[in-house]
Amino acid sequence: MEVFAQGLGLGFTIRALRGCPKFKKLSIHTMQRRPFLAGLGATAAALGSSAWAKQESGRKLGWALVGLGSLSKNQLAPALAKTTHSRLAAIVTGTPAKAAEWQKQYGIPDSHVYNYENFDRIVDNPDVDVVYVVLPNSMHEEFTIRAAKAGKHVFCEKPMANTAEECRRMIEAVKSAGKQLGIGYRCQFEPHHVECMRLAREKVFGELKFIEAGFGFQAGDPAQWRLRKSLAGGGALMDVGIYAIQACRYLTGEEPVEIVAQETKTDPVKFAEVDETISCSMKFPSGLLASLMTTYAFNGSNFFTAIGQGGRFGLEAAYGYGGQKGWSSQPGVKIEFPATDHFAVEMDLFSRAILDGKPFAPAGEEGLKDLLVIEAIYRSIREGKAVAVETV
Ligand code: NDP
Repeated sequence: MEVFAQGLGLGFTIRALRGCPKFKKLSIHTMQRRPFLAGLGATAAALGSSAWAKQESGRKLGWALVGLGSLSKNQLAPALAKTTHSRLAAIVTGTPAKAAEWQKQYGIPDSHVYNYENFDRIVDNPDVDVVYVVLPNSMHEEFTIRAAKAGKHVFCEKPMANTAEECRRMIEAVKSAGKQLGIGYRCQFEPHHVECMRLAREKVFGELKFIEAGFGFQAGDPAQWRLRKSLAGGGALMDVGIYAIQACRYLTGEEPVEIVAQETKTDPVKFAEVDETISCSMKFPSGLLASLMTTYAFNGSNFFTAIGQGGRFGLEAAYGYGGQKGWSSQPGVKIEFPATDHFAVEMDLFSRAILDGKPFAPAGEEGLKDLLVIEAIYRSIREGKAVAVETV
């Protein structure tokens, strides 16, 4: 699995820095001992239009954020300011008030502001190299394909789309455009996760036999798009269960072949359109079983535990933006790393892959594989029996 290759490379540099207390807030650049970031704290706010244009000649790829919601505002824009090879170049929004606010804060010229109707004009903007799709899930396919047609590389948030079929069309569109498609699986670069992948792959606790993984939270506002099937594609499983699926897949390095799942709805009004709580069992080719749960009904599940013949290890607060806590049954095996900015790391790795002309992973196929698992889980619930997972 691609992630192991990337993960191990990153794991090596992380291990080399282990125990350096001053690296409280690591970014990928510090991990790789490159000069720490010119742009740290220096947002484009300070730049006028001519300076903006001049930046283009540097090694920073221009990113356009599509959809200025919570993730873009609170995580991605601040993260871009911490990167070495990436910068905020343009915004795409359906809310004019947000455009004005962002222009002011980040010094974005009018020529670099788009809405969902005139978005295709981005083809004429050489300042934009990468389009980052940060919209409700049902809009990922449309904006990925439009961005590819505009000749841009695409980075798309998870879940990649609402269906595997949509994922396939996205992969094809970006491939036809000769561009790269990256999926926002930030945990694949997070040091605790990377170390757990190494522990699994190197069989430090023996051959893995069982994994338990769960991620859920209490969904608030009943009017939010996440509870509308047409926009979200599904409920907790699509939104956060996907992190637990990812963990099972990247710990084993295998694809599940058979799934049996069950759903419960304790609030059938609020969750009329989407799944609320799901529990399922996934069987992998090696014979390993994984037990997975996800929910929109309550807090408290955010973990994985991996059990091998020689012991156990896992993460708590596993999938948050920070605060990961590793543990293991062997006193000598510690899973402890400084915090990183997950988003700065993944965006810069994507930029670097493009600059180096190398394929980025996790790419579209990775998003498709998760959607195939998700579809099998929903199918098992509908049919009330174990089902096979479709292959790519
Ligand atoms: P928000 O609801 O906060 O923002 C979504 C934005 O999309 C809106 O603010 C709006 O921006 C735009 N939008 C366009 N059409 C619609 C519509 N019909 N309904 C609602 N919004 C619309 O969502 P998030 O930022 O939390 O999530 C966006 C994506 O990012 C999702 O795919 C989600 O799964 C993913 N995500 C990933 C995370 C991660 O850790 N990797 C964490 C959180 C989210 P505007 O007003 O600018 O048009």
